[in-house]
Amino acid sequence: MTPGLERALSLIADVPDFPEPGILFKDITPLLDDATALGSVVEALAAPGRDDAGRPVVDKVLGMESRGFILGAPVALALGVGFVPVRKAGKLPRPTYAVSYALEYGEATLEVHQDALQPGDRVLLVDDVLATGGTAKATVDLVGMCGGSVHAVAMLMELSFLPGRAALDGVPLTTLLSV
Ligand code: AMP
Repeated sequence: MTPGLERALSLIADVPDFPEPGILFKDITPLLDDATALGSVVEALAAPGRDDAGRPVVDKVLGMESRGFILGAPVALALGVGFVPVRKAGKLPRPTYAVSYALEYGEATLEVHQDALQPGDRVLLVDDVLATGGTAKATVDLVGMCGGSVHAVAMLMELSFLPGRAALDGVPLTTLLSV
């Protein structure tokens, strides 16, 4: 890891008991606030979308609401490809595919526009934190419903005490930090 990337990741703040008791929330806003740090994480998250010569090997970047939007859009620009938002239920205005998945209490639904991908598109998924992997797995399933395939998943960090990596069923996963 470069010193610049190491410094960038050191800016992520731990906030105990947010949004509820017992959760250690990983707050990326101090990192976003620093242009140099933001640039280095964007480049590192884009790397799984490039070949050895630095050429893009994906057709789209998908970002999951909402911090996946903040990170994913500049990653898409860095790769020179388009960005697709994966949103919570009821936010996208045109026909969508939807996948529901279990939360600790209840259920969540993610949606993507049905015409967001062309058949055969290869995509890079981007988000900030991999926890249980429910969000990422639902997004992998949405990509399949659109006729695309997931080339890789790129996350700032994984919470290694949770089964997020296993939930991805072997989809290549790059995380910049494991805690
Ligand atoms: P999961 O579906 O359990 O993998 O949760 C992933 C989503 O929840 C990501 O979009 C994260 O932004 C958010 N998330 C989960 N746990 C945390 C945490 N400890 N700190 C910050 N964000 C989290």
